[in-house]
Amino acid sequence: MTYFVLFIFGLVIGSFLNVVIARFDDLSSAVTGRSKCPKCGHKLHAGDLIPLVSYLMLAGKCRYCKKPISYQYPVVELAMGILTASSWFLISSFGADLTTQIILTKILIVIFSLLVILIVQDLSEMLVSDTLSYLLIIFAAIFGFMYWGEVSVLAIGAITAVVPILVLVYPSGEKWMGKGDIKIALALGLLVAYPNVWVMLATAFIGGGLIGAILILTKKAKPTSAVPFVPFLVAGAIVALFWGEYLLRWYLGLSS
Ligand SMILES: [Zn+2]
Repeated sequence: MTYFVLFIFGLVIGSFLNVVIARFDDLSSAVTGRSKCPKCGHKLHAGDLIPLVSYLMLAGKCRYCKKPISYQYPVVELAMGILTASSWFLISSFGADLTTQIILTKILIVIFSLLVILIVQDLSEMLVSDTLSYLLIIFAAIFGFMYWGEVSVLAIGAITAVVPILVLVYPSGEKWMGKGDIKIALALGLLVAYPNVWVMLATAFIGGGLIGAILILTKKAKPTSAVPFVPFLVAGAIVALFWGEYLLRWYLGLSS
């Protein structure tokens, strides 16, 4: 029941994030938010704005002009629903009193919200917002400190995350990755800490390499084109945060 309530709460957060993302794209929508169809401008009613449900009931089309609604809306809502419930799943097994668990869960939900906005921006505009990145670094540092309890594992986590990105960004003249990726890597290194950061990097580079290869082979991308790397780093961080210790134990078991 708790998870279901948190999932619904996450859907609502996702719906709010979609409004925030629209504000970044177009300042004129800042006043109206998502209350108008961006295609036909028709005013949307409460029934058109229920997270996920409206999209499914309208079969992904505007009720008024029948033009497709961007799949960004339901994807962001669903992602936040799952991530919000998962945050509590992770933190509720963390050995601390209930107050600390609730604070940690709230911080993690804020972190995931920032990451979702950053992913959408990176995918749609190949852009990483400085302000959001700095906020992310601050929240990740607070979470990391409360969760892992040691400054040294955070520091080593951050350095381990940043070095491979630096090596790839600067020699390539920012062709493969941007400076924005460094800030995100730093934040995520603080979030997952050492040694889980290895799981994050392995997942991000293997995932990015595979998807990149598929895009090149299917001629959807050129070997020289830049790939939005934030989604891969975030996917890696999620794997590291939820399954990092398990995967490291499995890997070390294999190699010994
Ligand atoms: Zn419309």
